Amino acid sequence: MEECIFCKIINKDLPASVIYEDERMIAFDDINPQAPVHVLLIPKEHFPSLNEIPEEKKDVLSHLLIKAREIAQEKGIAGRGYRIVLNTARESGQDVLHIHFHLLGGRQMTWPPG
Ligand code: 5GP
Ligand code: ZN
Repeated sequence: MEECIFCKIINKDLPASVIYEDERMIAFDDINPQAPVHVLLIPKEHFPSLNEIPEEKKDVLSHLLIKAREIAQEKGIAGRGYRIVLNTARESGQDVLHIHFHLLGGRQMTWPPG
């Protein structure tokens, strides 16, 4: 997807502060952090949102989640707590139409979310 900003980050056409990368995914700091730790984790394969992930690609999701847990451990927030957010489609507030998990932590979270 040439016009997708997250695909541009994957292809190194846009700079990002990359924390982790392998053949299936990339994790990088959010450009507008909402917490002391705010990392985005995305698959290299372009899917607009959770709604478009086919059943046979469900391993993509577990890979991203386990890596989010590892990054939380590395950042020292695993024990304190962290939040993983997956905005999906319009009413959730999803802005970038390339599926991404937000890993947020390093401060007290509140509930309910806005
Ligand atoms: P959404 O609202 O779609 O769930 O979240 C999109 C996130 O992507 C936002 O937190 C926003 O700050 C982040 N973002 C948007 N454009 C860029 C960019 O070019 N680079 C990085 N690192 N983050 C971005
Ligand atoms: Zn994309």
